[in-house]
Formats: sequence, structure tokens, C-alpha cells
Amino acid sequence: MLQALTHLVEAPFRVVLMVTLHQENLGEVPKIWRLARDLGLSGIIFERFVPEGRGKDMASAVLRKEEWQRFLEELCALCGFDIAALSLLSYRAFWVEFAEGVSLLGAPCSLGESFCLMPDGTVFPCRRLPIPLGNLLEEDLAVITTHPLLGKLKNRESLRGKCRQCSVAGCLGCRALAYAVLGDPFGEDPHCFLQEARISTTSLS
Ligand code: SF4
Repeated sequence: MLQALTHLVEAPFRVVLMVTLHQENLGEVPKIWRLARDLGLSGIIFERFVPEGRGKDMASAVLRKEEWQRFLEELCALCGFDIAALSLLSYRAFWVEFAEGVSLLGAPCSLGESFCLMPDGTVFPCRRLPIPLGNLLEEDLAVITTHPLLGKLKNRESLRGKCRQCSVAGCLGCRALAYAVLGDPFGEDPHCFLQEARISTTSLS
């Protein structure tokens, strides 16, 4: 793989490494970072493993809440940003750009704005949320993309647990992770460390 990356950089292409984080590679983040920099890659995208499809067989590798928090802290440190991990809570994935210095782009949830089209025409709300909204071979796209489930998933009143009570603007938790881990797309986001972070901030002050 290293050789292929080197050839691509020399070609020259903009090469971005995409990394899906789970328990077995979480400790490799600094090494992956150094590798990408040393090879002259354009950047790295970090995402979380969501155990869906064949990934269900390794469901135990999904990050724990504390591990996700630790990763966000590490990401801020690697970028050289003096920001709290808490400020990254509402983003589902991150794109680190090495172009001029380091810049960090956070990807918010795009539920209802983008969709996942499967080879048999089935449309899912997200590639990680395999609840069918309809089938493009049988229904109009406009009907599928206005499916009532979408509105419900984006309505805080429909959510459960911490995400229902929460007042963080622009965050409704990851519905795909809730579905994969709890079996409930309306459940609270299993990776949210908001309460813990607030408690530790309060006890420090
Ligand atoms: S409780 Fe849910 S909605 Fe609030 S910040 Fe955490 S993940 Fe987002």
C-alpha cells in the first residue's frame, strides 16, 4: 500500500487517506498522521466505525465513548489547536488538510440532504443507516426523499435519552450509531460525552 501511495503522490494526485477508527487502530492515530505527512499526502479523513452489514461481526470493536473523546482530544493536539474536544462533538467525521499548515474540517450529519442508493434501487437515509425509505425503481425520488421517517429522525422531540433533553444547536446525535449499537435509530448517541465533560469542567472550576 505504501508503494501505491508513493506512486500516487508522485503522479501527482491529491491523495487523502480515509481512516475508519475502531478499537484496534485507535492507538495508531499518531503513526498514521506521521505516515501521511512523511509521504506528502494531502490529508486524512477520520471516521468512526459503525457496525453495520458485515461489520456486525466485529461489533465489539466499536469505540467506547471515552475513546471517541480521547481521539478528539488527540486530534486537536495533533492539529496544534487549543480547542476543547467538546467543540467537535456535533461533527461525525473530520478532514485534516495538510496544504498550508494544518486545517481541520468537520462534517456534520447530512441526514435528509444526502442519501444512499443501493444497487437494487433501495434508498437509505445514510450509508450507515440501513432503514429503507423506498425503492427508486418503484417510486419517485421526490416521494422517497420526503419520507416521514426523515422528519422524525430530525425532530428532537422524537429522540430518546440525552439527545431528547439536549440543547446543543446543530446536533441530534448520530442516528446511525444509535441504530447500530442500540437497535434504536431514535436512541441517544452512544458516543456523546457532553454530560461527562461538563461534570469534569464543573468540578475543575
Ligand atoms: S446529547 Fe445528543 S444531541 Fe446533545 S450533544 Fe450529545 S449527541 Fe448531540
